[in-house]
Amino acid sequence: ASPTYQVVDPRSGEVVETFPHATDDEVATAIDRSSAAFTSWRALPISERAAVVRRVGAAFAERADELAEIATTEMGKVHHEGVEEVELCQAIFDWFATEGPGLAADEPLKTAAPGTAMVQKLPVGPLLGVMPWNFPFYQIARFAAPNLVLGNTVLLKHAESVPRSALVVQEIMDQAGVPEGVYVNLFATHEQVETVIADPRVAGVSLTGSERAGSIVGALAGKHLKKCVLELGGSDPYVLLDTDDVAAAAKLAWDTRMYNAGQACNSNKRMIVMSEIYDDFVSELTALADAVVEVTPLSSRRAAEAVAEQVEDAVARGATLHAGGVLSAGRDAAYSPAVLTGVRPGMRAWTEELFGPVAVVYRVDSDEEALALANDTAYGLGGAVFSRSTARAQALAERLDVGMTNVNTPMGEGPEIPFGGIKRSGYGRELGPLAMDEFVNKRILFVA
Ligand code: NDP
Repeated sequence: ASPTYQVVDPRSGEVVETFPHATDDEVATAIDRSSAAFTSWRALPISERAAVVRRVGAAFAERADELAEIATTEMGKVHHEGVEEVELCQAIFDWFATEGPGLAADEPLKTAAPGTAMVQKLPVGPLLGVMPWNFPFYQIARFAAPNLVLGNTVLLKHAESVPRSALVVQEIMDQAGVPEGVYVNLFATHEQVETVIADPRVAGVSLTGSERAGSIVGALAGKHLKKCVLELGGSDPYVLLDTDDVAAAAKLAWDTRMYNAGQACNSNKRMIVMSEIYDDFVSELTALADAVVEVTPLSSRRAAEAVAEQVEDAVARGATLHAGGVLSAGRDAAYSPAVLTGVRPGMRAWTEELFGPVAVVYRVDSDEEALALANDTAYGLGGAVFSRSTARAQALAERLDVGMTNVNTPMGEGPEIPFGGIKRSGYGRELGPLAMDEFVNKRILFVA
């Protein structure tokens, strides 16, 4: 962790702004506020909470340009991708405002005994969100929206590299009429994260980020007997069995991989391509990489160096770099989009997540080989399979050990589609109806 919350522009390496950590007193006050707010927030009719959540979405959308600019300065995001991220936030807040009340409605149970029985869905209390920098607004939206509608309150510890994003979200919540204490941003240290989780009033924690952070925070949640949701890394397979148009298939795979400079947990980090089209596919990707004129920086110099080291390790052990893979000589975080093949066991890139703009392509000779390779990973977030034959692609997609599997599309993402993984990619689900199942007391009411 950096010594403090700090904006470092990845385009230059310059420190733009620095914020102090919260004091222990501020953390204690934040928990008090969150806990006090929970009492009144949960008491509101759910329709009123939903109306507030809808206003939050609108407030995000109104400031899309400004927010995108903040993301560019803090973590290098391309402007139009920042605007898209903010629009997605609005869609998420809207979706939970519309669907949340229905999803949280009582569910009657059929009972043999005389009387009526039902499952009621009640909020559980203040929750801690620990969020990463890669989608500084969307990560908050998908945690906050369902939980605010349910009646939980939110304490938010953002990544130290995106304090401006963290503050602007607090501003948006306040301006949209989220009552005092219902959403509280905290510039917490890692130690203070434990203080929050340990507090008896705090009901749960949700973390999106690395396995390292997930395992630490998950352990803390276990120690203090709190519910936990973890959305960690991925090394998603992207299987191409056959196609009529290799160029189009390569372009789609490339654009998917390069989105957010490759820094997405569910990016198609392993392209698995059938022999017959493999050479053409790699040539097309190489041409796309060579055609890149403006290199997008990664989130930080450190992040760019980390990817460069993984690629160098692979090349040193016999992998082939077809294009890109040049780390800027300056202090900025530019790393040119790369195409890498020949990745084999023993290389870091075989087992580790490559959190940057590297298209790794594997050659296979059969559907079974593709499947075995696709599942040969410690991760289990998402995956996609493409073929002219939907049935053939789906047969393979349904055998992927992942939380999200897609057929003939890179990813079926949207507010209504649940998101989450298995294995080392974490547990629990965000978005869609399943997001309302995580931090909720499904209380049984039995009336004789
Ligand atoms: P981290 O996992 O370190 O950061 C994510 C969040 O967890 C941040 O808010 C961070 O806070 C917090 N955190 C980290 N360690 C602890 C701890 N011990 N106790 C409490 N909170 C903690 O991600 P990095 O920025 O270091 O990125 C490293 C790698 O993580 C990437 O290369 C990628 O593989 C993966 N990653 C995955 C993401 C995803 O979408 N699933 C998103 C981002 C990263 P702080 O900033 O204060 O350290």
